[in-house]
Amino acid sequence: MEERAANISKEMTLLKERMHQHQYKSTPQRDEIADWVFRTHEHFTVEELIASFREKGKKVSQATAYRVIQMLLDLKLIEEHDFGKDYKFYEHTPGHDHHDHIVCMDCGKIIEFADSSLETLKEKITLKNGFRMKKHHLTIYAECTTCPPEKRVLTRRET
Ligand SMILES: [Zn+2]
Ligand SMILES: [Zn+2]
Ligand SMILES: [Zn+2]
Repeated sequence: MEERAANISKEMTLLKERMHQHQYKSTPQRDEIADWVFRTHEHFTVEELIASFREKGKKVSQATAYRVIQMLLDLKLIEEHDFGKDYKFYEHTPGHDHHDHIVCMDCGKIIEFADSSLETLKEKITLKNGFRMKKHHLTIYAECTTCPPEKRVLTRRET
């Protein structure tokens, strides 16, 4: 997992504001997990989150990790993705524009892409069917042409 020593005070301020609005109490562990989430500019699983804390000698139970993830989902600070596995992937939203994904079904490589003509098309199709688009996400399940052997690679485009 790539963790950058970026300044995430903006994200933490946003977190505090939304926690207050939604009556979540701030605890050191909640803050610490949120801090990790905002520093991880990749798609991650709850298992990876727990493993990363374990490596630093800190214990985070699965129940706690899922509760904080659920809170961050409620506060609209992360997105949940079903990339066709039996576990979910997450990514933080502040600092990242809307994008879609291509996922390799063999090695698990995840690529982000954004295409304005595709966005226009999604809107057109939605309107044509009598809807107004609220949120949307497209995942293309594929196999990569240069699949590395047995290795799961997480790639995230920085915006
Ligand atoms: Zn980021
Ligand atoms: Zn993404
Ligand atoms: Zn692959």
